[in-house]
Amino acid sequence: MTDSRTPFPHGTILGYPRIGRRRELKRAVEAHWAGRLDAEGLERTAAELRRATRTRLAELGLGRGDSSIPESFSFYDQVHDAAVAVGALPERFAGLRGADGSIGLDAYFTAARGAGDDAALEMTKWFDTNYHYLVPEIGPETRFSLSSDRFARQVAEARADGYTTRPVVVGPVTLLALAKPADGAPAGFAPLSRLDDLLPVYAELLASLRAAGAEWVQLDEPALVSESLAASAEELADAAARAYSLLGAAVDRPQVLVAAGYAQLSDAAWTALAAAPVEALAIDLTRGDVPPAAAGLEGKTLVGGVIDGRNVWRGDLAGAWDRLDALRGLGAAQVSAGTSTSLQHVPHDVEDESALDPRLASWLAFADQKTAQVVTLAEGLVSGRDSIAEVVDAASAALADRRGAPGVRDGDVRARVAALGAADFDRGDYDARAAAQDAQLALPLLPTTTIGSFPQTGDIRRARARHGRGELTGAEYEAFLRDEIARVVALQEDLGLDVLVHGEPERNDMVQYFAEHLDGFAVTQHGWVQSYGSRATRPSILWGDVSRPAPITVDWSVFAQSLTDKPMKGMLTGPVTILAWSFVRDDQPLGDTANQVALALRDEIADLEAAGIRVIQVDEPALRELLPLKQADQPAYLDWSVGSFRLATAGAAPATQVHTHLCYSEFDVVIDAIAALDADVTSIEAARSRGEVIGDIAASGFAAGIGPGVYDIHSPRVPAVAEIGALLDRAVGELALRRVWVNPDCGLKTRGYDETVASLRNLVAATTQVRERLSA
Ligand code: GLN
Ligand code: ZN
Repeated sequence: MTDSRTPFPHGTILGYPRIGRRRELKRAVEAHWAGRLDAEGLERTAAELRRATRTRLAELGLGRGDSSIPESFSFYDQVHDAAVAVGALPERFAGLRGADGSIGLDAYFTAARGAGDDAALEMTKWFDTNYHYLVPEIGPETRFSLSSDRFARQVAEARADGYTTRPVVVGPVTLLALAKPADGAPAGFAPLSRLDDLLPVYAELLASLRAAGAEWVQLDEPALVSESLAASAEELADAAARAYSLLGAAVDRPQVLVAAGYAQLSDAAWTALAAAPVEALAIDLTRGDVPPAAAGLEGKTLVGGVIDGRNVWRGDLAGAWDRLDALRGLGAAQVSAGTSTSLQHVPHDVEDESALDPRLASWLAFADQKTAQVVTLAEGLVSGRDSIAEVVDAASAALADRRGAPGVRDGDVRARVAALGAADFDRGDYDARAAAQDAQLALPLLPTTTIGSFPQTGDIRRARARHGRGELTGAEYEAFLRDEIARVVALQEDLGLDVLVHGEPERNDMVQYFAEHLDGFAVTQHGWVQSYGSRATRPSILWGDVSRPAPITVDWSVFAQSLTDKPMKGMLTGPVTILAWSFVRDDQPLGDTANQVALALRDEIADLEAAGIRVIQVDEPALRELLPLKQADQPAYLDWSVGSFRLATAGAAPATQVHTHLCYSEFDVVIDAIAALDADVTSIEAARSRGEVIGDIAASGFAAGIGPGVYDIHSPRVPAVAEIGALLDRAVGELALRRVWVNPDCGLKTRGYDETVASLRNLVAATTQVRERLSA
């Protein structure tokens, strides 16, 4: 135990965006990868960013010396940071270690991005967010050892600047719970079984942080809230009990804050952590309730996560205060105010958004505003609620203003939603639809198609940017896009694909494009949020009732259809995905908002049909991502998400073929929901799992059209004809030739033309061979 025990601060944030206010980290990291910036230059930029963050957080009222400023920088991903610190690098990258076994920045990046035949670490979504982490690979042989001093160096760097910061590290239970078995691990091996081997290295890491001057460390354990991981809640809670009794007992360590956001801790984990010999616990009170009293809280600080780390709305300080007050009732030594999660999920600063309507801006809080709100609550905890009454009231007034503002509630939209009945969600008998579509479309066996986008070339991006700057007129830009569409249509004709697409060159992003054309949304200028590594997205803000002022995609689809006799697919983004990749209003159930979006899409589908489009795809790649972490919440989610898709599509005539596209390989929990979408054709990511999903689909009795992706578009590799043929054979065999479609895994926008053309040629060739074999 440490001798001088600095108390935990009364307010803190669990993490801060690390990409830089103007995405400086992205530029530096990508310049480094391209060989334009050496390692030293990159380290310098990163150090400047960290310094700017500390300065900013101190300006906002967090203390320089009281450990309230988190040290949460990452060059790529926080899970990878922890894995590298404890030496959990897959064998295939072993050669990149230093002579002393250490893992430097280049090895760190190479594992993240892959090199030659050495595949990158897999990426997957972090809990129910749109952030992707790198999945650690851990096997029975993985040797854990302290392999990077980066965490300690950052603490020391801050100290040298006069700050005592609180390093943030993904905790041992979460690191293992999120890992997958390394190649060659025996069947049934669970990375969590390596906990006892890992803990001594964490103890060493804690000692190094203490030596560097840390008074407190934050160990993030969000795995303890999830019911969607391989390990059960009981196994995770057991692991937490073991981990924190051992780490807590370490003599040479900073004081430990265990933080678990994203949902409510399981009862078992809460009991285990309350009893563990650590000094502080942070819990999410925006997505969880105040837990019951538990043994062991007497000596601890409880950090109430009352400011939402994941959405952009200005927090209700009066409500936050009440929850902190309730938390005080549990008998802990101290209660502090905090964010529910790291602020890595929100942009930096509302003040940067000069183009945003000021009234809307006054309802928002990005990372800096959220930090200020935490500081206010902390002040109240120290000096009493009266001392912050003015700021609390201002927040309540903003909330009231938002509730009553025009556009937040639109009478016509509400009346339309209120009048919906069961028939509006039902397209009628599938077999009858299929017959009408067969008659209208006359497609061959194993029809070929793509998922929508074609490569977004430098030319396209440049034209868009020039249009944005006013260097291309609207008419010039439109002419450019038409040329692009004509080229893409001609290419598909030449390749011999059966159902064509226009290629989506007019879309910067499949959600933002719709947000820009719908009422009820606002877009930001600088609201970037890290998605993975150096990639960031700029989610739109869904603030009001949603409606469609005018048709969105119809002109493009009609133009594309005019160039070909083959069916042209109209391309829309589905309601669930639009919600998942935006910041969504938090003042009504998500399902209500989804139905409003669905009605706007329903009108778009009606207009596409009226204009002669016979195939319409409604993408829902985020259906799995929004699945709640708690099993008890999943049925209600599946109900409204499936319902909104059906509402969007059920107005289509029986002869109109409705497609959907989904892209993730864990279909287990949602397989019934996919069938319930009642699309005529579903294309699905399957190549990375070598078609495993085909078996699941076959077993589920799915009867409609299905296109298991036959090649992985995430890699530039061109699949051989035989390879595609083998996957097709499997699909045709296992699905008993129930309406199998042939398509890539996902959209082609991130690919180059060379590999795209070669891959699609092979796709068509493989299809032709299988067709011939089947008709022989
Ligand atoms: N239609 C989109 C595209 O092709 C689908 C992208 C996705 O599934 N993420 O780009
Ligand atoms: Zn996809």
